[in-house]
Amino acid sequence: MSIHIEVLGEPGADNATLAQIESGSSVKRLLFDCGSRCLDSLGVSAIQSIDHLFFSHFHMDHVCGFDSFFRLNYNRSEKPVYIWGPPGTIDVIHHRLLGVTWNLHFDQPGEWVLNEISESTVRTVRFYTRDAFEEAAFEEVKSISGALLEDPDFSISAKLLDHGSIPSVAYRIDEPVRENVDPAKLSDLGLVPGPWIRELKESTDESGTILIDGKPWEVTELRSQLLTQNDGGSAAYLTDFILTPGSPEWKLIAAWLEGVDVLICEAQFCDADLELAEKHSHMTAGRVALLAKDSGVGELLLQHVSRRYDAEGWAGMLGEGKAVFEKTIFPPHWEID
Ligand SMILES: [Zn+2]
Ligand SMILES: [Zn+2]
Repeated sequence: MSIHIEVLGEPGADNATLAQIESGSSVKRLLFDCGSRCLDSLGVSAIQSIDHLFFSHFHMDHVCGFDSFFRLNYNRSEKPVYIWGPPGTIDVIHHRLLGVTWNLHFDQPGEWVLNEISESTVRTVRFYTRDAFEEAAFEEVKSISGALLEDPDFSISAKLLDHGSIPSVAYRIDEPVRENVDPAKLSDLGLVPGPWIRELKESTDESGTILIDGKPWEVTELRSQLLTQNDGGSAAYLTDFILTPGSPEWKLIAAWLEGVDVLICEAQFCDADLELAEKHSHMTAGRVALLAKDSGVGELLLQHVSRRYDAEGWAGMLGEGKAVFEKTIFPPHWEID
């Protein structure tokens, strides 16, 4: 898989997740939540190249770092800033965009596309920096059928989870199946990459030929020698929710997560504090591991652990996860095992 996952932030502090999707010709960067100081480990250019910012919900610990993101991206010219989140996202983010005195903005670039996800629709509003974000420049409501977002390099689907009195959005990333050129075989054939590679990948004429440096090559022969298929990776991000094992909602989410390579998931509480977890609409390490097991995911990456525990407590939670689902890990930079 070519989705690189990095959990940002420290144990017991706010966390966010950065997913980088490498397609060979480009890298797409997706940020999930933006808690306090979560961007500290990223350079300016990394923050400015984030394509989409997905919020699960707007509790303080998931949005506190937004000003750092906003400051570096408010007037970027290369591409719009896409924000996604639960019902209420447009109001919450719009208020934050307005929470600055704007008087030097008239000739500034900057386009912000705010997307609000409900059970069956996504509502989109655009704001421009040159307008000091005052007027919604465009609005549409689309019904969601299948993916929430389709990009050539990835697709995103979403589910609303129960976080007590509010929903928390879960996101799933899927890469498309891709054909890649095997560089060793390319060199064996004495060929040099060029526009012909795209022609070869897109050719539907099985008996056709393509010209490379004036020489004809059979499409079928060349495809079988040069192209390998990448099945496409997947990952899912779930945080701040409650699911009861075996419930209809549990089964629905487990089915939706089926086959995901990496499940990035909250584990606020240890198993002994299940009562507290339920009271605050959160999960325990053991419950999350059971969800990973029931879903048949490849790996469970735990994050967003409570600061009520110390390093020993977090290590214990990792053990609780592993006891249920062997491939449970913490972010490597936490150095807890
Ligand atoms: Zn939280
Ligand atoms: Zn929360």
